[in-house]
Formats: sequence, C-alpha cells, structure tokens
Amino acid sequence: MIYLDNSATTRQHDRVTEVMLQYMGEDFGNPSSLYSLGIMAEKAVKEARKKLARAMDLPEGSLYFTSCGTESDNMAIFGAASARRRRGSRIITTQVEHPAVLEACGRLEQQGFDVIRIRVDQDCRLDLDQLKEAINEETILISVMQVNNETGAIMPIDEIAKMKQNAFLHTDAVQAFGKIPLAKCADLVTVSGHKIHGPKGIGALWIKKDVHIPAFFAGGGQESGMRSGTENVPAIAGLGEAAALLSEEGSVKELRDRLLSGIRDEIKDIRVNSPDDGCPSVLNISFLGTRAEVLLHTLEQDEIYVSTGSACSSNKKGQSHVLKAMGLSDREIEGAIRFSFGKYNTAAEMDQVVDKMKKAVSRFRRLGSFR
Ligand code: PLP
Repeated sequence: MIYLDNSATTRQHDRVTEVMLQYMGEDFGNPSSLYSLGIMAEKAVKEARKKLARAMDLPEGSLYFTSCGTESDNMAIFGAASARRRRGSRIITTQVEHPAVLEACGRLEQQGFDVIRIRVDQDCRLDLDQLKEAINEETILISVMQVNNETGAIMPIDEIAKMKQNAFLHTDAVQAFGKIPLAKCADLVTVSGHKIHGPKGIGALWIKKDVHIPAFFAGGGQESGMRSGTENVPAIAGLGEAAALLSEEGSVKELRDRLLSGIRDEIKDIRVNSPDDGCPSVLNISFLGTRAEVLLHTLEQDEIYVSTGSACSSNKKGQSHVLKAMGLSDREIEGAIRFSFGKYNTAAEMDQVVDKMKKAVSRFRRLGSFR
C-alpha cells in the first residue's frame, strides 16, 4: 500500500497504540477517582498535557483536551463570540477554512453576527488588504487557519496578529502541527491527534494566558471546568505520545519535490494548485481533461491512496470550496488530486506513483472514462 492521504488522517504510530492499550486495559481508571487507579489515570493526563505543550511550543497559556479538532474550533469560535458579544459583532475568517470553522461562523451569522470571509488568490494566498480593511473596532474574532488542508498554503498569522486590534485571533493549526512551528502570536490554537500519527477522536485547544472564553460543555468540571466530561484517557495519553514522537520526524519536502518533478517531467497539461512556498506536507495538482474521482479509484486498484480534496468535508461529492475560492475553472477543479505525505512514505513510493499516475492520466485522456 502507498498511502498519500496523510492530510485526511495518518497511520497511528505503534508506540501510540501501545500506550493507549495500557490505559484501555490494566490502567483503566477514571482520573476523578480518589484511589490509586484514578490517580494513575490523572497522572497520565497530566503527563500527556506536558508532552503536548512541549511539542506545541507556545507562550504561557492553558491546554484543554477535546474530542477532536472540530470541537476545538467550535469551542474557540463560539466561546470567543460569547465572551465578546457586548464589544462588537464582527467576525473575520477566510473562504478557505475547514468546515469546522466555516460552519461555526455560518451559525453565528444566522444569530446576527457580521461574518466577513476573506478572499484568496489563485495560489491560495490570503488577500491581506481585504483583511486589513475588514478589521474595525467591532471586530471581536479573527479565525484563520495556519495551513490549508487542501493546498498546503501557509497563512500569514504573524502579520494578521499585528493588525488585529482588540480581536481574539484563533488559528486552526490542525494541518500545521508537526510540520511547521505553530503561530506564537495567536490567542487560541486548535490541534488534532489523528493528523500527527496519533489517535482519532482527540484534539486540544490552547488558550493564551489572560484570554478568557466560557466553557463549551456544562457538567462535572473536568479540564479545569473548561471541558466537562470524563477524560478519554487512552486517547489523551496517545496524543501526548504522538506529540513527543514528533521530534523524531524528518521533513517530507524531499518526497514532495520528487513527486512534483516526476509528475512535471512525465505528465503534460497539469496545474499545480499548491503554492511554491506552501507546507511541504500537501501537494495539490489538477490533471486537466481528467476526472479526479476516476483517477483516485484507478490508483486504488494498485493500493495507492490519494484524495480528490478534503476527506473530512461533509460535502464529499461536491466541488472543493477551496479550489473554487481560488478561482479555478470547473475543468481544473474536476481534475484536482491532493497528495499528502507522512513519516512512513519513501522516495521509491514517489517514483511508483509518478509511473501509475502517468498511466492512469494518459488512459483517461485517451478513453474519456474507463470505469
Ligand atoms: N481543521 C482542519 C484544517 C482539518 O484538516 C481537519 C480535519 O481534516 C479538522 C479541522 C478537523 O479535525 P478533526 O477531524 O479532528 O475533527
């Protein structure tokens, strides 16, 4: 199998699975229990928080475990809106966010908030002038992802922080974590376990010191009252382990470059949708005159797994809202494949993928469709 869909999810590290099994088996206690089994679980959560904080390497703040990146995004956005409602009603985001942010902002819009979605250009670069103009005294929240999940474009969080005035700045760093240093100037940062060879169904929200948002869940007061609900100890311990293991990871840039130059050499009529200076974990290319979905299933026959866009979009069959926002034509969107890289990929795999892609694309172009 050649797995090139690491932006959708990653293969869990064996060491992470081992740690999780410990807390699913023998050490199964509830961190709130007073006896030693509970204290052991509480210690595991504390250790995991330390490991995650070390890996995220952010300024002074607090880290709360959640059930996923989506929950962290929702907690940040609804929390910030609720905390600052009296100060203003403007929320700024981008047209290319993950649905976890876009849909949350959409709900707030329905409740009367004034939501501005900033444009991107044909390389998925944010229109900073539009953003600057949109910021006013009424702006309570700016939510911009650090790395785009479909193109790998890196958003200028540092520059946004300089112009944000009194707004809270949230960044969805789900695709950035473990790939590039996290934005130290944000007030709220979202990460997720399953994109870093950790477990699915676990995420975290980091909140800068002196930034206050209300708790999202009402309940027993776990996570210092910020996220009630019995802690998912195995997943939390697994996320801590995955975060600690990030320090052993090398760059995937060489793999991306090798795949890109192989495709450029072998296949004509393509459009590279990822910016040159994007995060090397993602490479999005349109193979003009093909249908990405058909290419995907053709590659699948050789156990090569890629994506046509964002796998965690609810809109699996629809057109990519990111490529649309970039102003790509229907033809360009239809033929767009996302390759995304992880620690288990090799250079030899890239050569095999170039070869299989070349065959799949030329066959499609010859026959139209062959399914
Ligand atoms: N944000 C981004 C940028 C993502 O790519 C994803 C998942 O693909 C999420 C949020 C959602 O994370 P989770 O799957 O943990 O809910």
